[in-house]
Parts: sequence; structure tokens; C-alpha cells
Amino acid sequence: QYILEAKKLTKIYGIHSQNEFEALHALDFQVEPGEFICIMGPSGSGKSTFINNISTIDIPTKGSVRIQGVDVREMSAQEIGRFRYQNLGFVFQDFNLLDTHTLFENISMPLSLAKISKEDIFERVHDMAKNMGIEHLLKKYPYECSGGQRQRAAICRALIAQPKIIIADEPTGNLDSVNSHELLMTLKSLNEQDGVTIIMVSHDPMIASYSSRFVYIKDGHIAETLQRQELSQDE
Ligand code: ADP
Ligand code: ADP
Repeated sequence: QYILEAKKLTKIYGIHSQNEFEALHALDFQVEPGEFICIMGPSGSGKSTFINNISTIDIPTKGSVRIQGVDVREMSAQEIGRFRYQNLGFVFQDFNLLDTHTLFENISMPLSLAKISKEDIFERVHDMAKNMGIEHLLKKYPYECSGGQRQRAAICRALIAQPKIIIADEPTGNLDSVNSHELLMTLKSLNEQDGVTIIMVSHDPMIASYSSRFVYIKDGHIAETLQRQELSQDE
């Protein structure tokens, strides 16, 4: 059983308009539990579109997406919202933290939909923030924190509900090399120690080297997919 499976996934922007543009062409894609996938490809090739459409952020024009056995098309918008919080953790380049909320409020957001007491939420957020070295910043607002601190808060938020799948779009795009390395070690340890499945977009080959499978997207097609072993044999 795949943890995530897309069949004939097609995305057309501006459908039925003059600017109709097919960004993804009937892609098939399967993910086994515990994989660490890096999606690569030139700018504009469809990587973000792809990751958004396999993770409920956007709705495919055609084709199906199953996440943990559930067909996304069979859920209402409300169910999708809840499902997303409980099953997926997102890490983006620009962190996507809400500037009107403290780090505590940002991090606890995925728990607000779950039936968990205030005390438990407080404890879980503090535990996680402590692990990530930002416990002392929980009352601060994102704009009062550095890029590395904001990214760590975003990771806390992505992990707080203990999702089985992490979706990361250029997660190190705004980080210096020390913070990038730290973030990738965190992802790698979640993958290896806790069996979390990771699907990450990056155009940096150094960063891609942390993953176990590479998927190359070109012009809205999967042009190539390589396992780590196949790569090292080529060298
Ligand atoms: P990548 O992440 O690989 O840079 P994107 O998925 O962002 O590529 O974009 C793929 C193609 O789809 C590009 O040609 C882009 O201009 C187009 N595109 C992306 N988002 C939209 C949108 N919201 N409306 C119309 N075209 C879009
Ligand atoms: P990335 O490479 O990280 O996707 P982009 O600059 O390509 O960044 O896209 C930033 C945002 O703009 C995305 O949300 C994408 O959907 C949107 N976008 C990209 N291309 C277009 C387009 N041609 N028309 C409308 N929106 C677009």
C-alpha cells in the first residue's frame, strides 16, 4: 500500500480561458512509506504545482490523488482542512508564519482542530520548541525573530501534530548554509528515526543528496526517477 499515490494527475491553469496552460500532464507517481524524495527540475517546470496538487493545497484538474488510502476528491473542503492538519506537515521557503500571531500561536495551530486540552497543547508546544531551541521565543512575533528562528518555528508547526508525511517546498531557500544543514538533519532524523515520509522540492543538488529518491520534473512531465543506489553506481 502506497502512502501517497497520484494517477494521471493533470493541472491546467486558467482552464476555459484564453490563457489556458497545462502545467502537469497526466503524471503517475507513487510513494512508499518511509521514502525521502527530492523533486528537482528547472525553474517553471512544474515542481511547485506538482507538490501543491499532491498535498491538497491545490486541486488537480484531472486525475486522482490518494493520501494514506483516502481519495482526496471524496472529501469536502472542511474535511480536507482537517485531514491536512492531521496527516501532513508543511515546510515552505517563506515559512508562512502568521505575523499577527506569536510563535506559540503559530505552532499550536494544527492542534487547535484536534480535541486536545489547553494544558496538553501548552506542554506539547513547549516540549517541541525546547527541542528546536526556540522555547524562549514563544511569546515573540515572527517579525521579531531571525530567518533561522522563523524556520525552526515553521518546523515545529509542521511537526506538532506528528504527521506521517512532510511536504517541503524549497525549505532551505531563505536559510544560510548552517541553518540549511540543521534543517536537513532534522528532516533526515525524522525520516530515519520516526519513519516519516518526506517529499521535498529543491533545485540544490547538495540538498538533494540527503534524500533517497530523486524525481526530475521537466515541462510538466516526470522525466526521470532515480534511487540513491543508482546514482552512486554511476559515479
Ligand atoms: P516550478 O515550481 O518548477 O518553478 P511552477 O509549478 O511554479 O514551477 O510553475 C509551472 C508552470 O506553471 C510555469 O510555467 C508557471 O508560470 C505556471 N504557473 C504556476 N502557477 C500558475 C498560476 N497560478 N497561474 C498560471 N500559471 C501558473
Ligand atoms: P516557485 O518557483 O517557488 O513556485 P514562483 O515564483 O514560480 O515560485 O511562483 C510563485 C507563486 O506565483 C506561486 O504561488 C505560483 O503558483 C504563482 N505563479 C507562478 N507563475 C504564475 C503565472 N504565470 N500566473 C499566475 N501565477 C503564477
